[in-house]
Amino acid sequence: MSQSIYDVVIIGGGPAGLTAGLYTSRAKLKTLLLERMIMGGQVMTTTRVENYPGFPGGIDGPDLMVRFQEHCQEFGLEVEYGEVEGLLDRGENKVVIVDGKEIHTRAVIITTGAEPRKLEVPGEKEFTGRGVSYCATCDGAFFREVPVAIVGGGDTAVEEALFLTRFASKVYLIHRRDQLRATTILQERLRHNEKVEILWHQTVQRVEGDASGLKAVELTDSRTGEKSPLEVEGLFVAIGVTPKAHFLAEILQLDDEGYILTDAECRTSMPGVFAAGDVRKKILKQIATAVGDGAVAAIMAEKYMDELTE
Ligand code: NAP
Repeated sequence: MSQSIYDVVIIGGGPAGLTAGLYTSRAKLKTLLLERMIMGGQVMTTTRVENYPGFPGGIDGPDLMVRFQEHCQEFGLEVEYGEVEGLLDRGENKVVIVDGKEIHTRAVIITTGAEPRKLEVPGEKEFTGRGVSYCATCDGAFFREVPVAIVGGGDTAVEEALFLTRFASKVYLIHRRDQLRATTILQERLRHNEKVEILWHQTVQRVEGDASGLKAVELTDSRTGEKSPLEVEGLFVAIGVTPKAHFLAEILQLDDEGYILTDAECRTSMPGVFAAGDVRKKILKQIATAVGDGAVAAIMAEKYMDELTE
């Protein structure tokens, strides 16, 4: 990995990171984008994106992210793969630690996004990959003609429930309240799908199975405390996300949930370090807002460097 000084290092290759990379590389700033595993971020696990402007009829998540990457390549964005372990503040220079190596840069844009929240119940960890999944788009096709359940009441849970009806014999949507958080259009589609049954006021207490995989989950009624078994072979968890900023907890200000605190221009508590996309505390987490953040962070990073040299 190169030891030269970059103008900007971007940590994370989702919509926010790729947009920041597009802007900084187009502005001819020497930029390196670091990605831990797969470029594209959470959108890679989304089947159909219907609310990103410019794509009437929608576009598949992975196809959209391939376009983002191709667009960045046109401007020569440099990309490396590795796990970022830390960030050091050396005043006008920052040091990003990646797999034990140091990368020196003048500005940093953090776009690490978020990862699925866990239920934290007995059996969940044991059956992950053997019935428990956090991505219906990735694993739904393994559950053909068998009953499955999905936990959650937001847009992700409803979208994934609808996707699962393509394969499963029956899809239970388990929700802890009597009202879904998902947008009306998705709720309507859910209610019109005969394969879906919504189990209101239910929480998963335990995941059960044997050597062949998951067999059932134990539910508890949140009003009465009454327990009941639900026989399913797949359990999809879609109860929101947690930000991937724990490696920065010592050096940046985070909120109680671990989101990076920034001002409206994506500046973090450390001068020269910006945060964009789902890892930043903000009101609306969408591809469109991640893209907006990425652009703002890139321009602010450029402005920061201009001010340093004035
Ligand atoms: P979300 O909106 O935060 O919804 C999480 C759901 O999980 C809520 O219904 C919540 O219940 C439930 N929940 C949370 N913790 C739980 C627990 N421990 N046990 C059981 N249930 C639990 O998360 P999301 O659906 O992943 O969406 C995240 C963001 O992405 C949202 O802003 C959403 O609009 C956006 N998104 C948009 C689209 C789209 O526009 N097409 C698609 C996917 C996601 P309560 O309702 O009771 O709190």
